[in-house]
Amino acid sequence: MIYPHTPITHIEGVTANRATLLASELGIKTCADLVSFFPFRYIDRTQFYTIKELEINQSEVQIVGKITHVKTVKQQRGSRLVATFSDATGTIELVWFKGMQWLKDSLKINEPYVVYGKTNHYKGRFSIPHPEMELVKNYKKKVQSAMQPVYPSTEMLNNKGISQKIMRTLLYNTLRQLNPQLQETLPASFLSTAAMLPKKTALYQVHFPETQALLAKASYRLKFEEFFYIQLQLLQQKQLRKSKLKGYPFAKVGGYFNSFYEESLPFELTGAQMRVLKEIRKDVSANTHMNRLLQGDVGSGKTIVALLSILLALDNGYQAAFMAPTEILAAQHYTALTTLLKETDINIALLTGSVPAKKRREIHAALEDGSLHILIGTHALLEDKVQFQNLGLAIIDEQHRFGVAQRSKLWKKNTLPPHILVMTATPIPRTLAMSVYGDLDISVIDELPPGRKDIQTVHRYDSNRLAVFQFLKSEIAKGRQVYVVYPLIKESETMDYKDLMDGYESIVREFPPDGPQKYQISIVHGKMKPADKAYEMARFVKGETQIMVATTVIEVGVNVPNASVMVIESAERFGLSQLHQLRGRVGRGADQSFCVLLTSVKLSSDAKTRLQTMVETSDGFKIAEVDLKLRGPGNIMGTQQSGVLQLKIADVVHDGDILQKARTMAIALLEEDPLLEKPENQVVLKAFIAIQKRTGLWSKIS
Ligand code: ADP
Ligand code: MG
Repeated sequence: MIYPHTPITHIEGVTANRATLLASELGIKTCADLVSFFPFRYIDRTQFYTIKELEINQSEVQIVGKITHVKTVKQQRGSRLVATFSDATGTIELVWFKGMQWLKDSLKINEPYVVYGKTNHYKGRFSIPHPEMELVKNYKKKVQSAMQPVYPSTEMLNNKGISQKIMRTLLYNTLRQLNPQLQETLPASFLSTAAMLPKKTALYQVHFPETQALLAKASYRLKFEEFFYIQLQLLQQKQLRKSKLKGYPFAKVGGYFNSFYEESLPFELTGAQMRVLKEIRKDVSANTHMNRLLQGDVGSGKTIVALLSILLALDNGYQAAFMAPTEILAAQHYTALTTLLKETDINIALLTGSVPAKKRREIHAALEDGSLHILIGTHALLEDKVQFQNLGLAIIDEQHRFGVAQRSKLWKKNTLPPHILVMTATPIPRTLAMSVYGDLDISVIDELPPGRKDIQTVHRYDSNRLAVFQFLKSEIAKGRQVYVVYPLIKESETMDYKDLMDGYESIVREFPPDGPQKYQISIVHGKMKPADKAYEMARFVKGETQIMVATTVIEVGVNVPNASVMVIESAERFGLSQLHQLRGRVGRGADQSFCVLLTSVKLSSDAKTRLQTMVETSDGFKIAEVDLKLRGPGNIMGTQQSGVLQLKIADVVHDGDILQKARTMAIALLEEDPLLEKPENQVVLKAFIAIQKRTGLWSKIS
């Protein structure tokens, strides 16, 4: 008897050699592995070509014709067998380099054959090396699905003779032998209400589809199932975390929160900000631990949400930490919060690498005796010397700059882990968030504060540089400030620094300090000392300089409302999300803002798509979707190690709707039957346990 866990050596046609190869090359060991090794495309074997119709660079073709002549051609090394093959419209050659003697004896002259293979084109003639051959009279008798599966393969498999034809045979045999033991893995109600194919049918049809329509239904069913069980795992993980992990309850909304909310809030919160705040309050008010990711486009107003959450912590007698990836950003948060809280008795300090030792010791002491309420800073916050009296909430801005290890240090800063709010302006596409962060709580600010003007974005070639400079002059004349950003992909690349310095010099030439306008220019880059950086930045913030020449150090968070023009040099070298982040530095004030993307004329098609997307939209989520399509899910920030993305048939980029449906149905199922105890859900429980055993995904995620 053959079961899913039976080794493939029990399948007809799987020799020990083949089994070893399939295991080492494709990781296929059991029958279950083999039947869930899916074709990546299909060839339509209902379609025939005439020789006249053949085109150069065509993929596989199928032709009916007759062999008129066979000869052996001697060549320098070995020889080859060449058959002349004709139909009514023309003649091609069929060529073999192996098995010639046997072929020579068995090939039938002047009998109709179906030949199938990939064409070569050389000196005006087509040939097919090693074609698949079948006499027409046998072709009709053979079990042949109209759409023939093509399986992923490797060079090694090809060289060792495990051809597509053999893969098809092995799959066919496995499905046939396994058939009595193939169990349904979804509840009956799913199949009836969602009109899904039964598992057996789906597996057959995905490997040997009878029609296009059945193939579509089969692959839908299998993709759904794949997503469904991943979602079930993630959701269970979340349930588990919520029931096990305790947090400090912020039971009351007190004086700090209320008086700030009523008297000092400088604007009305947007609907999205209010919704997110409610979500956070719900998390922290109970005895459970908050681990929430807050996504919101640049300028969507995350800071105020962070502040209000901090006030909740303070109202309940806890301290709060606010960590940013750079000194500039930390300093900006510090300034913003001290300004907003100036009417209160709340103590705030800034801790970064450049804080002198004496001041540092004061901060440490005030943290430990509880007189310091809010600590803002960089990585410096994580040092062991930084001990809080009672840390209740940690906010992490731009999470992708911090590693997991660093985050876990924050967890250990109090007896129970403080509540964690991670904020990011790099939107994660919905589908990706569902699969990678499916066990986290996610909040989204999907609404910008009122009155924001869209940033006018244009793409210009380097040759238009003079016109761009002219435009900058006219904007500066109106009192605005300008960023000019250079790519600096790696801090170490001296070439990039040379570009930056050359650019800086040409701008100084174009905008002379001793001319009638008396232009002032700042420059900031990663190789400068922190104090020099801060000094230049401060000059720009105060409006003493009109142009800020910089590298991507200004990418995150910097807020200068009067800066309304962003020029990005060599824009084709930036990734889409980085371009979007950079552009977010402008459009922060009342003036119409602009973003100019300067590039050379030679652009790859991906670069063109990136630039066009930037020109067309400023919606961070749309941009993230395009980015995902261009780069694939494995390259998006923070998802690299995720086992959740190692999918067999589904694909987060193209199957977002199926994923959404699977998640919704998994949520509904767990709500009704959290422990999968009902008789009708035993099929789910069984499949779930089997998957966990097989993949070990469970332990990988946690
Ligand atoms: P980000 O989400 O990029 O961190 P910020 O919190 O820096 O955004 O907010 C961007 C700007 O919008 C700030 O100047 C802030 O004061 C302002 N802002 C935030 N929320 C609102 C609101 N509801 N109405 C008006 N302005 C707001
Ligand atoms: Mg911010």
